[in-house]
Amino acid sequence: MKLTEQQQKELADVKERLAKVEIVVIDETYLHLFQSLRDDIRTLVAHNDVLIQGIGILTQQRDELLEALKRVLPFMATETTKCHGDECRERWCSSCFAEEDAEIAAERGRAALMAARNTLAKVGGAA
Ligand SMILES: [Zn+2]
Repeated sequence: MKLTEQQQKELADVKERLAKVEIVVIDETYLHLFQSLRDDIRTLVAHNDVLIQGIGILTQQRDELLEALKRVLPFMATETTKCHGDECRERWCSSCFAEEDAEIAAERGRAALMAARNTLAKVGGAA
């Protein structure tokens, strides 16, 4: 079938219109993607702000814990003691508890002190 000149013009016109429709569809798709991406970025930025705030709080709490640990270290019992009947009831006192139990408590104190010093050396702040 051979198209008339008029039909060829109409066909060309329809093709041109279809091409424009395709461009509009592509534009809308990209616009939707762009808006979606923009929303995702806004969400990420909001989450990032929350994370930064959380890191700040955790850092402050870590510093407070390190400071508390440093203050406690000099008062840790690492040797057995004897209160000679004053009933101090400290776990490392061999007057209040059996010599063996007091020595176990002192040994635990030495191990805890070493662990605390290692932690302070690793995390920050000399003991
Ligand atoms: Zn005692």
